Amino acid sequence: MNRKPASNRLKNEKPMATLNLGQSGASKALITGGAGFIGSHLAEALLARGYDVTVIDNLSTGQFENIAHLTDHPHFRFAIDTITNEVVMDRLVSECTVIFHLAAAVGVELIVQDPVHVIETNVLGSHVVLKIANRYRRKVLIASTSEIYGKNDHAPFHENADQVLGPTTKSRWSYATSKAVDEFLGLAYYRQLGLPVVIFRLFNTVGPRQTGQYGMVVPRFVQQALRGEPLTIYDNGQQTRCFCDVTDSVAAIIRLAECPEAIGNVFNVGSTAEVSIMELARTVLTLVNGDYRDEYSAVVGAEGQHMIFIPYEKAYEPGFEDMRRRVPDISKIKAMTGWEPTVPWDETLRRIIQSLRSKVICGNPSSSAEETSTDRS
Ligand code: UDP
Repeated sequence: MNRKPASNRLKNEKPMATLNLGQSGASKALITGGAGFIGSHLAEALLARGYDVTVIDNLSTGQFENIAHLTDHPHFRFAIDTITNEVVMDRLVSECTVIFHLAAAVGVELIVQDPVHVIETNVLGSHVVLKIANRYRRKVLIASTSEIYGKNDHAPFHENADQVLGPTTKSRWSYATSKAVDEFLGLAYYRQLGLPVVIFRLFNTVGPRQTGQYGMVVPRFVQQALRGEPLTIYDNGQQTRCFCDVTDSVAAIIRLAECPEAIGNVFNVGSTAEVSIMELARTVLTLVNGDYRDEYSAVVGAEGQHMIFIPYEKAYEPGFEDMRRRVPDISKIKAMTGWEPTVPWDETLRRIIQSLRSKVICGNPSSSAEETSTDRS
């Protein structure tokens, strides 16, 4: 079987991109959190590229429906289990050639509501993955997050920028701290034990299957607009983010997996097109409704209003701290692999609207909690 036809080249791929296919010639990928939003897109892309793919996911935030269409694929396997089940992980890791570690608890609302779960899932899960990867000397790609940069206000962020986090009394920072521990541990396994580890920091990643259930703004705005509800803009909406299409993010992750020089390094993965939350809201309303007139209200549920403004302390918790700008410097991954994003954010919005429209119209909007395992950013 031809495992890697030329037509399966990744987006933007340089013709001479280095491939690391393992000794047998067929890479066997294990994706932790593979039933989540990003994990399921990664599984699709790896299968299309000729990999054997095994997903392990406990479906705590991931959804079986994200991978249901893959289950008949001859090179796809799915284990419903937690990554802290060391017996199962031992077997799966022994059978793979590369691990994509995406299982994590993410989403600002989840972090604020259930910090015990977030910290334990992220720190203990990564510990098990790295320990067993080292047992079998498997390459590990660890998903991290732009939250790592915290309140640093010197955007765009280079990978060596400082972490600027708030106090431990503010739950939000527990997520960045848990992922920083993952990064430290991964880099320690690389430096001290020679394990091939690559870390990628995902900035806001968006696309079909992402759920707004845990706070992510794009699916949330699209669902609100499709239901005819006002869009919930936190603070004054002047804070900015860069939204990267999930197909671009996944292409970056695969390039890093196939680039031997990436080992031992940390990379930003994201779009550099900065957009304010207000501009995002206006664009969502325009794409869903056609023309509309800006109408605001300070009252939740006020009729006829397209947007409402909600203070951070009401949206999250008293004293909540947000970052005003979050822009990646992607020169490092571009120089090493040639990757850069290709899909404009408004094009991604159209795709998300298309995928959510039927679900919302069918009257099942909340179950369009399609996924999540690792989004973030
Ligand atoms: N946000 C918003 N309304 C919502 C959800 C989020 O205005 O219903 C804002 C949030 O405060 C942040 C931005 O949108 O400034 C992005 O939020 P998200 O949780 O998607 O990702 P973050 O970048 O904060 O991790």
